[in-house]
Order: sequence, then C-alpha cells, then structure tokens
Amino acid sequence: MNENHSDVLIIGGGAVGLSVAYFAWQHGAKVTLVDKGQLGSGSSYGNAGLVGPRYFVPLATPGVIAKGLRWMFNPESPFYIKPRLSRDLFSWLWNFRKACSRERMERSLPILLELNQESYRLYQEIAGLPEFEFGFENSGLLMMFNSEKGKKDCAYLAGLALEYGLEADLIDRDQVAQLEPDLKIVANGAARFKMDGHLIPYRFVEQMGNFLSNDRIRVLTETAVSGFQRKNGKVQSVQTNDATLTADEIVVTGGSWSRQLLSSLGVSILLEPAKGYSITLPPSKRRLKSPLLLSESKVAITPMGDRLRFAGTLELAGLDLSINKRRVEAIRKAVPQYLSNLDTGAPGEGEVWSGMRPCSPDGLPFLGRFKDIKNLSIATGHGMIGISLAPISGKLIADNLAGKRSAIDMAPFQPERF
Ligand SMILES: Cc1cc2nc3c(=O)[nH]c(=O)nc-3n(C[C@H](O)[C@H](O)[C@H](O)COP(=O)(O)OP(=O)(O)OC[C@H]3O[C@@H](n4cnc5c(N)ncnc54)[C@H](O)[C@@H]3O)c2cc1C
Repeated sequence: MNENHSDVLIIGGGAVGLSVAYFAWQHGAKVTLVDKGQLGSGSSYGNAGLVGPRYFVPLATPGVIAKGLRWMFNPESPFYIKPRLSRDLFSWLWNFRKACSRERMERSLPILLELNQESYRLYQEIAGLPEFEFGFENSGLLMMFNSEKGKKDCAYLAGLALEYGLEADLIDRDQVAQLEPDLKIVANGAARFKMDGHLIPYRFVEQMGNFLSNDRIRVLTETAVSGFQRKNGKVQSVQTNDATLTADEIVVTGGSWSRQLLSSLGVSILLEPAKGYSITLPPSKRRLKSPLLLSESKVAITPMGDRLRFAGTLELAGLDLSINKRRVEAIRKAVPQYLSNLDTGAPGEGEVWSGMRPCSPDGLPFLGRFKDIKNLSIATGHGMIGISLAPISGKLIADNLAGKRSAIDMAPFQPERF
C-alpha cells in the first residue's frame, strides 16, 4: 500500500481542516492532513471562542465603511487598514463595498444563520462524545453598551435576532448586574442573546487532533506544502518539504495562507487576512457567567476554564502577525468603561497573541470545488466566525467529496464567485 496516497488530502490543521478530516473519516475515507506547524497553530489558537447563531450578521453591513473611515486615523481604534499598493486589497475592498448594501446583507443573513445553527448542533453532538471536553457551554452572550449609539446598535441586533427567530432582548444595568453578580457594571445595559455558547478553541483543536491521530487518519505536522503538480485538469501531486503526496481529492484549509498557497496553482480567491489580538490572563477571582461583547469598543471577553480572554481589533495588514502593542493595550483600556472591577492585568501581562481571520469580501465562506481543477476543494474565508462554522464546513465538504447530497445549498459559497 502506498503510504503517500490517500483518498483525501487536507492542507491545514486548524479548526476547519480538522473538521473536514473528522467528517471525511466518518465517511470511511483514508485521510491525510498536513500542517506547516503544529495543529491549531494558526488563528484557531487564541481567538475568542464564541459560537452560535448570533454570528449571522456579516461584517459587510450598511454604514460599516463610514464607521471604518472614522476609525482609520485613531491609533487605538479597533479597526485599521495598513496603506499599501496592492491590487488584491483594492479588489477585495471594492467587493466588500458592494457587499455592504442592505439587499446583499439581507440575502446573507438567513444563509449565515442556517450555517451557524447547524454548526452549533454539530458542536453539541461532538461535545457529547466521551473523547471530548473542550469547555463547550451553552451560556448565552451579553453585548454591553455604554452610549446611546451603542444602545441603538444593540437594540438593532437584538431586533434582527428576534425577527429571525432567536431569543434576544435588551436589558438594563441592574438586570446585567443580576446575571453577572461578581462584576461591578458601569455599562448602561446590554443586548442578551440566549442561544449562543462558547468553547476553548485550542482545546477543541488539540482534542480533535488527538482523536484523529489515534489510528484514524494520518497527520503530518511541521510539513509545509510548497507546490502542486497539475495535469489534465487535476492536481496530480502535492509537494511538501519532505515528500510528494498524492490523493484523489485535495482540500485546502490553510486559513489566511490559502490564497498564497493556491497562487502556485494559478488559482485566485479574494481573501484578505484581518489581524486581531487576544490577551489571556491566569486564573481570575471574578467569574463570568457568560461571554461579554463590549459594543462600542468591539472587545470580546470570554471565560476559558478558569482563565479570561480579552480579544479584539481588526487590521487589514496583509500576511503579518506582528503585534502592535498600542492596539493590544487599547483592548485592556476599554474594559473599565463597562466593568469597574475586572482585572485586565498590567500592560504586557498575560499571554498576548495575534492571529489572522481569513476574510471573504461578503462574509460568506468559500466552500466547495474549483471549476477548472476537478479534484481541488477549499474551505476557508470564514473571517470572524471560523470557529463557529468549523463543524458545518467540515461536514459540507466531506459530504460533497463523498457524493452525498448536502443538507445546505452550497451555491452561495462558490470559491470563484468574485
Ligand atoms: C482575535 C480573534 C478573535 C476571534 N474570535 C472568534 C470567535 O469568537 N468565534 C469564531 O468563530 N471565530 C473567531 N475568530 C476567527 C477564527 O479564529 C478563524 O476564522 C478560524 O480560526 C479559522 O480557522 P482555519 O482552520 O480556517 O484557519 P487556521 O486556524 O489559521 O488554520 C490554518 C492552518 O493552515 C496551515 N497552513 C497554512 N499554509 C500551509 C502550508 N503551505 N502547508 C501546510 N499547512 C499550512 C497553518 O499552519 C494553520 O495551522 C477570531 C479570530 C481572531 C484573530
């Protein structure tokens, strides 16, 4: 038997690649997964771990461009575009602008809602298996506001959620205080989303990796894909730093690196990395009952076991993981405007991390086969919700490869739609 040949070869071992591997393995495929580093060393490591139906509103919404432009010149703002002459960035921004219309947003909402709901159901299933314990909790989410504008935004999102059948309401400071008795609330109130959850993302990736490595699939870490050989409209082989691998089906799940990875095949997708940061602090005296989003500052605070993670910032800066300390500290500084007794650590304290969200212009992922290369599929472009959507993305791709009718229409996710 040729060890270097598999039914399905997956390139990228983040939450998405491992989810594809899990469902492909369930369908009985012989799977190989390769990663240039360790499993979960990309953006699936230090993100905020928020999952659930609430994340059905894409980044591209009416008014977001005007807001972004106002933020551009503030060195502590949660949004920044690094000025550079790049045709890809220009093209991405152009398509993002087009996707910001009300009509396009309204088209995306039910699609993203269905994906998130189905993915959440799959998380519940996986979390129920004896091999898995990744801190998955159905805890709801509070989106706090401290200004009239923030209240309006929260009311709008809660209204939208209600309209689409989710449980949400607007609550005042006293009600927030009752829900979070350990915290001193200075925010004016919050939108409460009852159907969401959170998890410890790295633990999910690590446990999925251990589960699959245990005689179920072949996992090659520290194995970078450097090129492809293409013949007769197919990928014939995949070159890594130490082997040539072949497979009936190839799936690219390289997160923000996917565009670069595919360029050697002459395939182009509109994908921009959007950098963000997190700070994870050691065990805290104050317990959060649910994750919090700080509406105006765009900061997420998630309880991760007995630790707390603060995450935020969206920088379109290309493939660049460098850490801008000023923006990291702006995440810490935002917290006392909402909560007066939550320790955020001294500057530089805690585990400070940067990661890149792989963003499509319209906020919908790229899922499915390429037209001109018959055995090449992709699963990326999940942007801010790649953890939330990892299981459903894995299932849709694996079903597609196995020739099964997918539960969800894949047409909106076509990788070459721009
Ligand atoms: C600050 C921050 C907060 C976030 N919060 C949330 C949240 O609360 N909820 C949510 O759902 N999402 C969140 N996200 C987004 C989420 O982290 C991503 O969408 C998700 O992790 C993408 O997963 P992935 O598997 O596609 O990519 P990654 O985890 O980046 O995995 C890609 C993998 O491909 C590998 N790879 C790349 N190139 C090659 C190559 N040439 N050869 C071999 N391997 C290769 C990389 O090493 C990497 O391990 C957040 C992101 C950030 C930055």
